[in-house]
Parts: sequence; structure tokens; C-alpha cells
Amino acid sequence: MQTKINTAEEAFRYWKKTPIAERIAHIQNLKNTLHEHREQHATLITQEMGKPITQSLAEVDKCGVLCDYYCENAITLLQTKHIPTDEGHENFVTYEPLGVLLGVMPWNFPFWQVFRFAIPSIIAGNVVMVKHASNVPQSAESIEALFVESGFPIGIYQNLHISSDKVAEVIAHPQIKAVSLTGSEAAGSAVASQAGKYLKKSLLELGGSNAFIVCEDANLDKAVAVAVNARMQNTGQSCIAAKRFLIHETVFDVFAEKLKQALSHLKTGDPMDPETQIGSLARLDLAEDLEKQVNKSIEMGAKVLLGGKRNGAFYEPTILTNITTEMPVFKEETFGPVAALISFETLEEAISISNQSEFGLGVCIFTEDVASLRNHISEFNEGAVFINEMVKSDPRLPFGGIKKSGYGRELAEEGIKEFVNIKTVVIR
Ligand code: NAP
Repeated sequence: MQTKINTAEEAFRYWKKTPIAERIAHIQNLKNTLHEHREQHATLITQEMGKPITQSLAEVDKCGVLCDYYCENAITLLQTKHIPTDEGHENFVTYEPLGVLLGVMPWNFPFWQVFRFAIPSIIAGNVVMVKHASNVPQSAESIEALFVESGFPIGIYQNLHISSDKVAEVIAHPQIKAVSLTGSEAAGSAVASQAGKYLKKSLLELGGSNAFIVCEDANLDKAVAVAVNARMQNTGQSCIAAKRFLIHETVFDVFAEKLKQALSHLKTGDPMDPETQIGSLARLDLAEDLEKQVNKSIEMGAKVLLGGKRNGAFYEPTILTNITTEMPVFKEETFGPVAALISFETLEEAISISNQSEFGLGVCIFTEDVASLRNHISEFNEGAVFINEMVKSDPRLPFGGIKKSGYGRELAEEGIKEFVNIKTVVIR
């Protein structure tokens, strides 16, 4: 580990002085190399964590879109800001890299999560070391190989092949300047505690239990079509997936029936088959955990409208009704294809139920009366509010949560400025 940190430190000395246009040119090469081998990377993702192949291809392509966004915008986003004052001094703010950063990354989007952290950090002049999830070692190696193949100098991007119990030691190392973690609450808490102990900056992208609210006046067909994707994408293993469906009581039965029809027609099976929409969960223990959450909720009174069965690591697309706020499928994050449906009478009640979560990543609301809903946006305790659209990440928009979903932002201007020294300069 020490050798790798030394390599990173040496690389940083060179990289921070490399003009930003040159750094961008390297990222452009990386994007081209990524694109040339898109099928190969997508296949690897599918083989390692079971994501249906069309979704793996989409993940790889989205990494390319992210590279393009920062290549086109980084110079503007990081340009020196001049702030005139009455005294006539020269005041300006520069954005300088921090140094060697550690990324601790999850398996559910094995390429996207790493790119989202690494690309803006590297364009800003930092160098990164990534401890990837232990169940996607080949994705981890492929990303490192991509950097080498596309001509990056040694040490700008390095994999750390370590177990999670060694992460604290890396954070404590004096050469590591900050840490970004995407993962569970437990991992986030461990990483943030260690970073706090050594007074280092941390950014946490943790779990979520997003509400998907369907108002009385919503276009139900549109809402159902989006709900399928919002819950079932990546076989439900997404932090920003809709997990709690709050449906106005007058449209509850129709929505539930339409969702049931739509989910019953999803094609399950071999994730390498381009027709497959739902694969197995990434690991057997994840399917078993989901089964426990569902079974406990059923014991507490939930009713199964669809699915509810596990076969090895495969978990059926499932709809539960009769949900109370005490049930695991409401209180906890469900990381799989399970939709919990709850009815509400008024928008105020829907907002209250939506906020009744320890998480605060995002919410989406379907209504035809956007004008009225605008007045309520500030009442949602979330990092994102999407109206008539599912919550999704976009390189042009900041992404992140509040409450137990974490802190800090990735993507857009906010993301690239997380790991820079915002330096104030005054010249009299
Ligand atoms: P995880 O178990 O927390 O693992 C994430 C990463 O943290 C892995 O590299 C893991 O290493 C490491 N890790 C685990 N425990 C650690 C500890 N005590 N100290 C330091 N590192 C530790 O999470 P996961 O199961 O891979 O991912 C699913 C979770 O990530 C879900 O909660 C999901 O909502 C969240 N997520 C959030 C976002 C977001 O943007 N907000 C995006 C995607 C996923 P090992 O694999 O070696 O254990």
C-alpha cells in the first residue's frame, strides 16, 4: 500500500502542474478507449453482478457522457472567479486540487460510481486511489487498465486491492487528503468517523428509500410506465430507486392493477440475453436479506399483490399492499425488485409520509397540476425532487442526499468543487 501511495504522491506533483487542457485531452482518450471496448466492459459488469446486458451497456455509455460533460465544461467550472469590492483591491478565488483522494465504491453500478467520483476529481488535478467492492474485482481491474491503455501517466488512477477493514488505515495515512464513499450507512459511518478523526474531508453517497407519489390527477399510464423503470432498473438495486409508492386513495386500485400488469410482463432470465429486463440479485445473501424484509412485513400485515418468492439469488418482481410505516419495507432500504404501495388522502399527508424516512436522497411526484406542486417543493426533505419524471443522475445536475443518505454532492459544478481547495486571494 505504501508503494502505491508514494506513486500517487509523485504523480500528483506532476499532475497538478499539468495544464487543465492536457488533463482533459487524457480524459478524452479514456472516453474513446472506453467506447471502443464497450461490449467487453458491459459483459464484465453483467458477469460479475448480474445486471441485464442492455443496462450494462447503458451504464458504460453513461460513463462516456460524463467524460464528455467534464471535458466540455471543466475549464469554465474551475476558472478563477474575480470578485470586485469597493476598496479597489484585487480579489479572486482559485480552485486547486487537494492531492491524493481515496474512493470507496460499491458494486451496483461498478463503472458509473467510480467514474462519477474519479473523472471530475482527476480533471481538477487530483489523483485517485480506488478501493472497489470485493464482489467486482474484474470491473475494478478493467477501469485501472483503461487508464493505462488510454495513456495516463502512472499513478493518476490506482486500484487498491484491500479488504474493507484496511480502509481506516488508508484514510489515516498523511498523504491521503480526502475520501469519497458510495455505499451503505454502516460503511459510510465507519469512513466518516475515521476521516473526522484525522480532520479530512469526506463525501458520502449512501442508501435511499425514495417515495414515488402519484396524485389524484396524475396521468396513470405515464406514472406506471415510469414506476416500472424507477423500481425495477438494475433489478431494484439502486440507491435512487423508488421504493415506497404513495398513491392517492381514489386511484390506488387502478394504479396497483396497472403496475401489477406491467411487472408481470417483465422478462426475467439470463442477464446476457438482450431481451432480459430482470436478472438475479448480485449475491445470494442480498436476496436472502430482501426475503427477510418482505416476510417480516407480511407477518406484520402486508399483503402480496404480486410475487413475493425467492429462488436462489433470484427474487420475483413483487408488489406489497397494506403497508404500515413500521414495516421493514417502509422503514428500511429494500435493495431489490419490491414495491411497497401505500394510499394517502391529501398532498400534505403524502409529503408527511414521504418525509417519514431516515433517508433523504430523492422523491418523485406525478401530477398534472405542476403549478400547485411548485409551492410544496421546499417541504420535501430530500436531495432531489423530480416532478413527472423518475429520480436519476445526470452529469449536468448535482447529485446527493441529506439525512442518512449522506452529504456532499457529486456531478455538475458542485461535484467538481468538492475536492478542491477554494483559495481566496486578495491583492492590495
Ligand atoms: P457497502 O457494503 O457499504 O460497500 C460499499 C463499499 O464500502 C465497498 O467497497 C465495501 O467493501 C466498502 N465497505 C464496507 N464496509 C466498510 C467499512 N466498515 N469501512 C470501509 N469500507 C467499507 O455497500 P454495497 O452493498 O456495496 O452497496 C449498496 C449500498 O450502496 C446501498 O445502501 C445503496 O443504496 C448504496 N448506494 C448509494 C449510492 C448513492 O449515490 N447515494 C449509489 C449506489 C449505491 P467490501 O465490498 O470489501 O465490503
